[in-house]
Amino acid sequence: MRYSALSLFANALMGQKGWKPAWRDAAPKPAYDVIIVGGGGHGLATAYYLAKEHGIRNVAVLEKGWIGSGNAGRNTTIIRSNYLLPGNEPFYEWSMKLWEGLEQDVNYNSMVSQRGVLNLCHSDAQRDAYARRANAMRINGADSELLDQDGVRAMYPHLLDFDNARFPIKGGLLQKRGGTARHDAVVWGYARAADKLGVDIVQNCEVNGFIRDASGAVVGVETTRGPIRAGKVGLAVAGSTSRLTCKLDMRLPIESHVLQAFVSEGLKPLIDGVITFGAGHFYVSQSDKGGLVFGGDIDGYNSYAQRGNLPVVEDVAESAMALMPSIGRVRMLRSWGGIMDMSMDGTPIIDKTHIPGFYLNTGWCYGGFKATPASGWCFAWTIAKDVAHARNALMRLDRFRTGHIIDEKGVGPQPNLH
Ligand SMILES: Cc1cc2nc3c(=O)[nH]c(=O)nc-3n(C[C@H](O)[C@H](O)[C@H](O)COP(=O)(O)OP(=O)(O)OC[C@H]3O[C@@H](n4cnc5c(N)ncnc54)[C@H](O)[C@@H]3O)c2cc1C
Repeated sequence: MRYSALSLFANALMGQKGWKPAWRDAAPKPAYDVIIVGGGGHGLATAYYLAKEHGIRNVAVLEKGWIGSGNAGRNTTIIRSNYLLPGNEPFYEWSMKLWEGLEQDVNYNSMVSQRGVLNLCHSDAQRDAYARRANAMRINGADSELLDQDGVRAMYPHLLDFDNARFPIKGGLLQKRGGTARHDAVVWGYARAADKLGVDIVQNCEVNGFIRDASGAVVGVETTRGPIRAGKVGLAVAGSTSRLTCKLDMRLPIESHVLQAFVSEGLKPLIDGVITFGAGHFYVSQSDKGGLVFGGDIDGYNSYAQRGNLPVVEDVAESAMALMPSIGRVRMLRSWGGIMDMSMDGTPIIDKTHIPGFYLNTGWCYGGFKATPASGWCFAWTIAKDVAHARNALMRLDRFRTGHIIDEKGVGPQPNLH
């Protein structure tokens, strides 16, 4: 069934009884051409682009829980392409372009909302760094605007403490095409579109090992629903990556950390876009339901648990108060955590590995949601053609060995921007 205004209208007249499940609940087959492990946004997007762009439709996505139960359904939904370095900026700008056409492409309302992302700066040095970043963005075809204090004040006059705060606001870097998308609708949209092209989406199917042939190549996976063979296996399991690669004796330059997010009680419209604090690690937007959605730093210790600890709650609340004292009496409603796959240079890995038949998509740090379309697109290309596309050519696994790192973490004045 194609979603349209007409189908909405017809179903309204029929008491909403005409809707069908958005995708099949597939049982695993004994073998596939490609298996993608992990039913988050990246895994599902990869399967979709494998089928759509490369005609590879004998594909399964294996998910240990329900699709979107990982970071895809836990993030703060920000999309942007305001990166600095050559390996990253063209990739994230490509993702932005895919976001702009996503809803039409997959025929699903993912609530892509280009409401603008504003990074605040609080010192002259930080403004200089933003000017450099803004130029890098423009060189790569992205939009960027440097705002002075008056420009920021015009956007958020009632919110921010400009002059008397501990960190006075000097201006900001604005990307108007940035914004938010409804995270689980992104997952559902890709799942539905992939399913329509013949991809099997298998939930409640945990991969707990790999099948290898005599040469050592990966030729399938062991799962809680039995062994499944495959021509190629792609891993897109975010914070669980090292748990699975250790079964292949692969040690990776990534660490798993908890990242928390928070939602306040519903408020009347207060924040039009996304604001990030440049002097601490805090960012905030307002959901369509009215809750302030915000987050901050990782929890600072390695963990596979999808829940965080109180010191970071306090830290994030402190940053919120430093930036916007006016929200001090707003009540926090919910918080939750996800497991982040932190790479050591703040940049992801999309690559084939030294093991034939085994491909890797990981290292998304704080920011893999915005990458979902481009990540799936590039990973599908890499799996289908056995070679990286120009867009992910620098996101190599061996860059940590060869020294060709893409140090987007930028330990300088804006470590929080990746
Ligand atoms: C609190 C928080 C806020 C964030 N905010 C933003 C943001 O605003 N903007 C942004 O761009 N990014 C953000 N991110 C990061 C972003 O959510 C992730 O980088 C991105 O969703 C990763 O997508 P994924 O598909 O790789 O991972 P996931 O969505 O985590 O998918 C991996 C899937 O693999 C499954 N899996 C794991 N092990 C196995 C196994 N053995 N067998 C089968 N399946 C398995 C998991 O259940 C999971 O569903 C945030 C993350 C968190 C936690």
